[in-house]
Amino acid sequence: AKERGRNNYQLYTTSMNEDAMQKLSLERYLRKALGLDEFVLFYQPQVNVQSGEIFGVEALLRWKHPTLGMVSPASFIPLAEETGLIVPIGEWVLRTACEQIKSWHAAGYGHLTVAVNLSARQFQQEDLVEMVQRVLEETSVEPRFLELEITESVTMHNVERAIVILNELKNLGIRISLDDFGTGYSSLSYLKHFPIHTLKIDQSFVRDITTDADDAAIATSVIALAHSLNLQVVAEGVETEEHLRYLAARGCVEMQGYHFSRPLPAQEIEALFQSGKTF
Ligand code: C2E
Ligand code: CA
Ligand code: CA
Ligand code: CA
Repeated sequence: AKERGRNNYQLYTTSMNEDAMQKLSLERYLRKALGLDEFVLFYQPQVNVQSGEIFGVEALLRWKHPTLGMVSPASFIPLAEETGLIVPIGEWVLRTACEQIKSWHAAGYGHLTVAVNLSARQFQQEDLVEMVQRVLEETSVEPRFLELEITESVTMHNVERAIVILNELKNLGIRISLDDFGTGYSSLSYLKHFPIHTLKIDQSFVRDITTDADDAAIATSVIALAHSLNLQVVAEGVETEEHLRYLAARGCVEMQGYHFSRPLPAQEIEALFQSGKTF
């Protein structure tokens, strides 16, 4: 029994060390990834289900590591946040997305918007607004084609400051959307103080929308709320025809999800435009 106890202990510490080691080496890799050109943006179409047309895309970060393979943002974004690496990475994302939208506009897709995710750490940066303005100028993208996605929790951290920053961003002419809406501390009374354009219904409410009465009630309320506040509403995680129909019947017109398309590399998005495909 004593013997086994010791082995267990060793196993335990070994795996603890391995976890720490893994995180350390992931962090080391992450520090180099930007310089080594290992990041790439995928784009997921956002569809107007009335016209069947793609009106915009959401830029989603991908990390292609030579030996680790494709690393999911769910595993490296938190580490990038923790280490502050999200700040330079986030700037790269914004610049790359703006260059891409510029090139799509030049190719004749003049109406497209691009949505870029902004993390909490980026939102806290003193020079966020200057950085966004600089990138817009350097890429000469018209601000109205850029949407920044922030989560509710990012704004709730310091509401007064969030209102100031969001107004500054709005004054640049860009659009703001509240991502994962409904999952944070619901702060409905703040909504009217936030200069936002779009609510994104979180995919957790869409997944079981046709079978779970609570999820259906929440999604339906968010749509009604958006309409009465004159906000755009985009449903995320639309995976099936049933999801689409249910949401459309409740007045949601703009959607995003695997039912239409997975996030795709820029070239495949172009092929989709060129095919003239509607949804
Ligand atoms: P998010 O902003 O909520 O993005 C939506 C996520 O849902 C994406 O995962 C997308 O691929 C996935 N998705 C889209 N349609 C469907 C669907 O129909 N069903 C399901 N089950 N999932 C769907 P992804 O690309 O793995 O990104 C995960 C999260 O990582 C994002 O969640 C976002 O919070 C973060 N992230 C991604 N790119 C960036 C970035 O450039 N900057 C920052 N700060 N965060 C990012
Ligand atoms: Ca998002
Ligand atoms: Ca989301
Ligand atoms: Ca439920």
